[in-house]
Amino acid sequence: MKSTRLCLACGNAFVPLRHVPHQRYCSSKACQRARRRDWQNNRLRNDSDYRDNQARAQAKWRAGHSGYWREYRAAHPAYRERNRSMQRLRNAQRSVRPIAKMDVISLPRSLDSGFYLLSHADDAGVAKMNAWTVHIAVLSAPTAPPT
Ligand SMILES: [Zn+2]
Repeated sequence: MKSTRLCLACGNAFVPLRHVPHQRYCSSKACQRARRRDWQNNRLRNDSDYRDNQARAQAKWRAGHSGYWREYRAAHPAYRERNRSMQRLRNAQRSVRPIAKMDVISLPRSLDSGFYLLSHADDAGVAKMNAWTVHIAVLSAPTAPPT
């Protein structure tokens, strides 16, 4: 009877190939990919020469494909939109103002979707320093009543 062992990736039992006595992954495509990935991660962790070579190769690739990320962003609007949102969030956090602006109270100025700083305000309208950053998506706006 042939001895079986359990694949390190999928956990299924498999019979090692005769010419690969120490086989630890089954022969499925996904598990062989996992084997190579594990091998590479292991090398990156333990082999500084390999790490340097990889870093150099990636830098060289980037130098030869300088338009890659620009094209990637153009082709992936969701990725681009997320980047923009995160940048707006960082911008909002940079310009924290402790005093609430009066026009917050004197709506009905239109409220735009976007990132806002939300904080407790006391009776004098002075916002306390602690503020939450919140994202408000305007789904509908009040309309003027019919006259
Ligand atoms: Zn497997």
